[in-house]
Amino acid sequence: MAKKSNNNSGVKCSFCGKEPSYTDILVPSPIGDTYICSECVEQIEGLLKDYYQENPSLKPSANKGGGEAFDAGTVEAKKLPTPAEIRAFLDQYVIGQDDAKKYLSVAVYNHYKRLAQDKDDVDIEKSNIIMVGPTGTGKTLLAKTIARQLDVPFAIVDATVLTEAGYVGEDIESLLVRLLQAADYDVAKAERGIVFIDEIDKIARKGDNPSITRDVSGEGVQQGLLKLLEGSIVNVPPNGGRKHPEQKMIAVDTKNILFICGGAFDGIERKIAHRLNTHVVGFTGGSVRAKVDSDNYLKYIAPQDLKSFGLIPEIIGRLPVLVHLDPLDREALLRVLTEPKNAITKQYEKLFAMDGVKLVFAPETLEFIVDKAIEYKLGARGLRTIVETIMIDPMYETPSTDIKELVIDRSYAEDKIRKAYIG
Ligand code: ADP
Repeated sequence: MAKKSNNNSGVKCSFCGKEPSYTDILVPSPIGDTYICSECVEQIEGLLKDYYQENPSLKPSANKGGGEAFDAGTVEAKKLPTPAEIRAFLDQYVIGQDDAKKYLSVAVYNHYKRLAQDKDDVDIEKSNIIMVGPTGTGKTLLAKTIARQLDVPFAIVDATVLTEAGYVGEDIESLLVRLLQAADYDVAKAERGIVFIDEIDKIARKGDNPSITRDVSGEGVQQGLLKLLEGSIVNVPPNGGRKHPEQKMIAVDTKNILFICGGAFDGIERKIAHRLNTHVVGFTGGSVRAKVDSDNYLKYIAPQDLKSFGLIPEIIGRLPVLVHLDPLDREALLRVLTEPKNAITKQYEKLFAMDGVKLVFAPETLEFIVDKAIEYKLGARGLRTIVETIMIDPMYETPSTDIKELVIDRSYAEDKIRKAYIG
């Protein structure tokens, strides 16, 4: 431990020769009669910092898995939230999607328990997740919220920009570059992060059969993703872009990265319905057919439907947690507008409150906004655009007035939308 050794005669810094009276602290070596002064320690610290900035992969913590997030050593100390706690957190931000929340909470909990497991004969395998549901129903929001709760680096990547190495588009490794960036290039931290791969359905192959011709943006990418999903050491170009031979690479181990994939899988309902019908007719007779909720076939999604859609079996095998998201109905959209912790209306209320103005959305206005979102087939994604269109004039005008309260009633909202969309 550091000792203040000002009174020891004959003692001096073994590096710079400074005597105790010229330095704050002289630290004795644990193995011999040598010392180092605080100024030398500071200097070495600075040198090391520069060195690791230039060579992030050489940082000792990078390869030992000793990051801040959830490694075996810290998981206990940091107290991993239970599935019920993860779910309660999700409830604050995401409306509905009960099944998805339950599956996700358990999968994420197990994933981080797996990171803390003792190395014995039972090896808990990784549980990457695939979420299937219409666009704008909260897939990205769920993944983002989980990453936020666990305080781990999080990256969103669009599968459509990925192509097989050597073709126009981004190399598959680029998704790890985003994660590294999110982790401030702390490799150990990135190695415990979460990657959300959006639009995974867009890299489906064009049929149920392996392709004969090259399919560089579909099956080719799926093949490339495989090694990332199962866990391997991947060399990543630090600044993204194409790899080239002279470039220094950062080695990233994907073994403990949680991959969450999402996609709308348009048309997969037909495949599910087809399977269910065949199944019912073939094996169990008419009684089961009566129980099937034909308004929401996604509820019954099974791995074989993903295969019929064009995901290769190896990919499906590496995404063992399959969850569906429900379409958001009128009631759910109303709740999205007002209930989540950072609901859209709350955001506008806050903006106005910062100018000392109390903003009130009349209940009929909220209903109008939801009706428009449904009419334009925009789902939750459209709510914000509609509110923004209604609020642009008040946001422009109110700060120059001394209004203290502003009520947005339905006729005002209707007028703004009519003018904007006719315009
Ligand atoms: P996708 O399913 O296409 O990934 P997103 O998660 O990106 O959809 O949702 C788009 C936006 O819509 C979100 O930022 C959020 O504001 C809103 N939203 C969608 N679904 C929900 C939900 N279930 N609860 C709360 N907000 C939602």
